[in-house]
Amino acid sequence: MDVYVEKEHCTGCQHCKDVCPVAVFEMKGRGTPDNPGAEGANMDSAPPDHQWKGKSNPENVQKWSNVQDGHRHFAQDNNGTSGGLSVAVNGSACILCQACLIECEGEDIVITDDSGNVYRSIYK
Ligand code: SF4
Ligand code: SF4
Repeated sequence: MDVYVEKEHCTGCQHCKDVCPVAVFEMKGRGTPDNPGAEGANMDSAPPDHQWKGKSNPENVQKWSNVQDGHRHFAQDNNGTSGGLSVAVNGSACILCQACLIECEGEDIVITDDSGNVYRSIYK
């Protein structure tokens, strides 16, 4: 099993980390403009075009930046409840319960099972 997060779409809402029963996700800081990803944002298997390079998808920013839902969106750092970026640090532990796939507001989680089937998040 492999799990990664398309970083440019991640809002930092932390829904994935909160719902995953096997601790696949950790929240990492976004790093600095000079060194995006310095705090481990690119530790998972996201392909190069979905690694964190310091820029969020503008459509996601427009959709989520002003939403008052109790989460920090696009914050540099995680405050223990939200912020930063989600990183699938333990993708091999995934049991494909699909909880994160329906909770990911950025629709940016990609899971590949051992047979090569690909599952993508669609926000409920
Ligand atoms: S599908 Fe996998 S990564 Fe997502 S919440 Fe379930 S166990 Fe965790
Ligand atoms: S649920 Fe999606 S958008 Fe929210 S922190 Fe996790 S990967 Fe990012």
